[in-house]
Amino acid sequence: MPNEYQVDPKTYDVEKHYQELEHKIAASGNSINLNRVRAAFEVAERAHAGQKRKDGTPYISHCIAASIIAAEMGLDEDSIVASLLHDCVEDTTLTHEDIARSFGPAVADLVEGVTKLTRVTFMSAEEQQMENLRKMLLAMTNDIRVILIKMADRLHNMRTMDYQTEEKQRVKSLETMEVYAPIAHRLGMQRMKWELEDLSLRYLDPEGYEAITEYLDERMDTLQSFMQDIEQRIQTRLEQEGIKCSISSRIKHIYSIYRKMYAQKIDINGIFDLCAFRVITDDVTECYAALGVIHSMFKPVPGRFKDYISTPKPNNYRSVHTTVIGDQGIPFEVQLRTWEMHLSAEYGVAAHWKYKSGENGVKPGDEEKFAWVRRLLETQQESDAQDFFHNLKIDMFADEVFVFSPKGDVISLPAGATPIDFAYSIHSGVGNSMVGAKVNGRIVNFDYSLHNGDIVEIRTSKSAPGPSRDWLQLAKSGSARTKIKQWLKKERREENVLHGKEMFERELRQAGIAPADIYTDEILPQILKRLAFPHVDDLYAAIGYGGITATRTVNRIKDELQRSQATEQKTALDKIEEQAERRNKREHHAVHGILVEGLDNCLIKFSRCCTPVPGDDVIGFITRGAGVSIHRKDCENYLNSPEENRGRWIRVGWAERTTDEYSTTLLLLSVQRSGLVMDVATVLNSLNAKVRNLSARDVDNNRSTVNITVEVHTLSELRLIINRLSGVHGVIRVARVGSAEAKAHFDEKGNPK
Ligand code: MN
Repeated sequence: MPNEYQVDPKTYDVEKHYQELEHKIAASGNSINLNRVRAAFEVAERAHAGQKRKDGTPYISHCIAASIIAAEMGLDEDSIVASLLHDCVEDTTLTHEDIARSFGPAVADLVEGVTKLTRVTFMSAEEQQMENLRKMLLAMTNDIRVILIKMADRLHNMRTMDYQTEEKQRVKSLETMEVYAPIAHRLGMQRMKWELEDLSLRYLDPEGYEAITEYLDERMDTLQSFMQDIEQRIQTRLEQEGIKCSISSRIKHIYSIYRKMYAQKIDINGIFDLCAFRVITDDVTECYAALGVIHSMFKPVPGRFKDYISTPKPNNYRSVHTTVIGDQGIPFEVQLRTWEMHLSAEYGVAAHWKYKSGENGVKPGDEEKFAWVRRLLETQQESDAQDFFHNLKIDMFADEVFVFSPKGDVISLPAGATPIDFAYSIHSGVGNSMVGAKVNGRIVNFDYSLHNGDIVEIRTSKSAPGPSRDWLQLAKSGSARTKIKQWLKKERREENVLHGKEMFERELRQAGIAPADIYTDEILPQILKRLAFPHVDDLYAAIGYGGITATRTVNRIKDELQRSQATEQKTALDKIEEQAERRNKREHHAVHGILVEGLDNCLIKFSRCCTPVPGDDVIGFITRGAGVSIHRKDCENYLNSPEENRGRWIRVGWAERTTDEYSTTLLLLSVQRSGLVMDVATVLNSLNAKVRNLSARDVDNNRSTVNITVEVHTLSELRLIINRLSGVHGVIRVARVGSAEAKAHFDEKGNPK
């Protein structure tokens, strides 16, 4: 399949070819020092002297051709010079220093960058490898021009592949399709992408490629007259509407047709929109105006309108796309864009230099229009491509690093990864038997941070001691750490136990827990059960190898201790309730202990309004037919007793010794909070108080009241209870029912006033 790019070695004229480069440079409008370009050409020609390409042409023809493509892209002087020299370091005796001496360090660095990319071996056809390889190429390029020169190099190689072996054609095409075309796409270089895809397809599926080109060739006349007709009509109509524009048309590129056939599983006859039209206007307003006119001329296909002007693609592609149906029912696509958008769509990142040179070769260089290039420039002050790409790189792959295995596989690791991560990513066996590492042929420490493009080699030994605990800190990837832990767990039990015990106890002390408090017959089994370790050594071992951290273990132990305390409290509360119930059954408990002046053996009742206990000043009230009711002297019912009842109050007193328990009620007011009742119960339990009733409820203003009925022997016992309850967190007041204090702060129902 010879083509226009294939040079005939018999008639090849190197000087003529070089002149073509100078013409392209002139056409690009860039101000480029041709003396420097010629010097590079001469150096390259001498260096490659005697070398021939597969087709028999002198090797320099490839260098010139790549430079011509670079010039077409509008690349700058250093890039053109570097394009001519791009294979010198790899294929000739010239060195970086030689080039730096003659053409400056910038050119030497470009050449070295391209050389590095050229050395990237393409080993595997797995998709994962492709993606890694793409990222790696971008990540290891610290100057975007390196990628662009490499693209030019690859494009020319793809254009002249016919003389290569079938195997090489296939491998290079796959690599181009999977790696270089996507990069061109990512960089917004549509024209480059299309050509690379079509060239690759030609070798990857020659029959499929042939079928489409034949089909198109057969219909070329029809298609062309169709395109001319539509172009003409749009042109005329837009002119009538006063819209200045340039219209072009093309048959869609072969790979896009091919992909559509496969994606939609249709025969090529089923693909109607083979043609695409492009309308280029001066500004965005005209662009949308033209769209309106076209939609009035042809019926738009619903769902096919895409506005990448208002929402540009991630690679900064901007255009409006629409598909419309022509008179004969044939659909076709129209893309509308401004000149500025057109330039960046065609050349992508490369348009950067077209802008820089102040000319663009396509349209008069209205610098104001190159908004997206300007945006790039704004982020980097001096229009420095290196910075630009550095930013791009950081954005895209800041958290990854790509390195090579000695076999050429690309391994993706987290940023900051060390040879340890690399070794374990190959195989845990490699990691476990690692005794040393080399990066780019030099021995490095295990804490060496890998860089993009590093070639990493791991030295292993059967007698390797295995990973050390320090490696857990050096490994950046979770999988490496997991594998190290697994090994440590299995191989280092005794050491783990000792080490783990030490870490565990240190952590306990830091948490304010004395290890001795844990190592008791009650607590330790509970903790081990809770953490699911059969034996305490297993716990130590797990901490030792890093299966569980000491901090986490101790945190869980703290939880556990709190939980068991809570359980104890719960049991206490249950006990109190039980007792209360029992007491309630024995209603009308003792009436003894009260001496009523002048009366023996009378019926005694303790009033519910003030619930007196031994030690209280008390007074009796003669009820009608129900004996004497005993009140406290500070009881409101006594103090505010109506006049007519005065005669019914009689003096009473406590017996010298009272042994009975007396039921009395307290009102407690607290800030509303969880755990209040629990804490109240705990206090009561700690004082061995017999509780008959304990009921709490939330009231207004974030307050809670607790109504407590306890049985006590004496007033001092009760005072202790009141004291202790007053000290409970959040408690505002504890009052006895019936007291003036209670009256002042609570209503009859026990609600706070
Ligand atoms: Mn090359």
